[in-house]
Amino acid sequence: MVHELRGPRRRLVETLQANGIRDLSVLRAFDEVPRHLFVPTGVRHRAYEDAAQPIGSGQTISQPSIHAMYLDVLQLTGKERVLEIGTGSGFQTALLARLAAQVFTIERVPALMDRAKEVLRSLHVNNVSYLVGDGTIGWREYAPYDAILVGAGSPGVPQPLVDQLAIGGRLLCPVGDRTKQDVVLVTRDIGGTRTTVIADARFVPLVGTHGWIDEPTA
Ligand code: SAH
Repeated sequence: MVHELRGPRRRLVETLQANGIRDLSVLRAFDEVPRHLFVPTGVRHRAYEDAAQPIGSGQTISQPSIHAMYLDVLQLTGKERVLEIGTGSGFQTALLARLAAQVFTIERVPALMDRAKEVLRSLHVNNVSYLVGDGTIGWREYAPYDAILVGAGSPGVPQPLVDQLAIGGRLLCPVGDRTKQDVVLVTRDIGGTRTTVIADARFVPLVGTHGWIDEPTA
């Protein structure tokens, strides 16, 4: 099953490369992680399109080029401790597990976490710790993190996440309204933090104490 759809997967990697992704370890991770196992069977034939897909519970697996952009910015070396907010399908978690030392991932919807965990375990990914809960408050127990990735759009960068960033660490978070955002990069050094906008994007809302307080209305 893992070796299925090699052709479409290769073409996706070529698309990412053509769109400016240069980090070879990121491209290799996309070539090796079977994205089709992370989407519902009904959309499996579209798993290698550069598009978001529905994954149930009103959520989506993000567009591959967004995941690639996040990872290209982070330039992981394999030694990092990474916190991911919004496990969703678990696909980005699988990429991170290849590119970093240890991944801590938080998802608020239990059914999504169950499914993501099942797929990741079936792929023998064993450097991931899972938490069902509100990722906007972070995961203090294992802080600080070298990288923090927020996979849902927030009205602002949740302060607890900034507080849990290591010196030299980088945090990516989409900030804006419920339907469109700017992805901001927060870097921390000894002198404090610096924030830059790196791209625009459309993520589902980050729902929690330091995000949107309630579910979006249709
Ligand atoms: N990278 C994931 C993104 C999934 S969409 C993927 O490509 O599959 C964003 C996810 O964030 C959704 O699953 C949603 O349930 C989750 N989410 C929203 N608010 C959250 C919060 N406060 N804490 C943890 N997860 C949250």
